[in-house]
Amino acid sequence: MRVLLVEDDPMIGAAVRDALRDAAYATDWVRNGQAALVALGAQRYDLVLLDLGLPGKDGLEVLAGMRANANPVPVVIVTARDALDDRLHGLDGGGG
Ligand SMILES: [Mg+2]
Repeated sequence: MRVLLVEDDPMIGAAVRDALRDAAYATDWVRNGQAALVALGAQRYDLVLLDLGLPGKDGLEVLAGMRANANPVPVVIVTARDALDDRLHGLDGGGG
């Protein structure tokens, strides 16, 4: 399972990436919306963890770009900065 993590906050991004890797998910971490769209064009992912507050293209613009490209990958929007455990539980639950 390959996950694209889109998160501009360095501490949150590193923590989520490390947790995903510890759980044996192949994880790519990008820090802005443009880089997310580039990654999605270059690699097939099983799941995207998407922050909404991003520099440049924000998360909603990334979503719009994905849908415009008919990319069917599931997206989990992660915005609550104090709820890391909730995010990871959501992922364990199938990405809902
Ligand atoms: Mg952010």
